Amino acid sequence: MFRRARRFLRGDPPVSPMLQRAHQMMQAGDFANATLAFHDLAKKAEEAAPERAPILYAEAGRACILSGQNKKAIAHFRSTLTLLGTQGRFQRMERMGGRIIQELREHGLTAEADEVATVLKHNRPQSDGDEIEKALKKRPLLPTHCPSCGAALRPDEAEWLDEATAECDYCGSPVRAEA
Ligand SMILES: [Zn+2]
Repeated sequence: MFRRARRFLRGDPPVSPMLQRAHQMMQAGDFANATLAFHDLAKKAEEAAPERAPILYAEAGRACILSGQNKKAIAHFRSTLTLLGTQGRFQRMERMGGRIIQELREHGLTAEADEVATVLKHNRPQSDGDEIEKALKKRPLLPTHCPSCGAALRPDEAEWLDEATAECDYCGSPVRAEA
């Protein structure tokens, strides 16, 4: 709250329009600019809203892959997984790590996928059996996009506030599951 107020007083633009623009760049296929925008948002989030930073780095990484910047992508994915591990959010780490590895393989980037798998492994807690099992539990359907910021939502990865409400990773808005 305090940080938010201070940011406002400093006169910086609020995060939400920037985030919406970044999502729009992704959807428009402007991946080179999208990666810069998401990276910028991720760096800002590390200070102002650390829980948002991992997915913003992941999206920066995706945009890198889609614009052929594989090395930079791995650096962003490393930030995603290391931050989640440091924050003790191991279920998210497993889900996001799993998706990143899958996407890299789909793009034929096997070496990069292996590198991310190693990062994931190093960030795992010692006894992770329960966490992985919980991480793979099925969840209800969500709308495809966040009504507030326009992010594409992934039910398997969302942070659930209760049985029927998830939180948008990008902007923190609650999103109701579809009946
Ligand atoms: Zn959102």
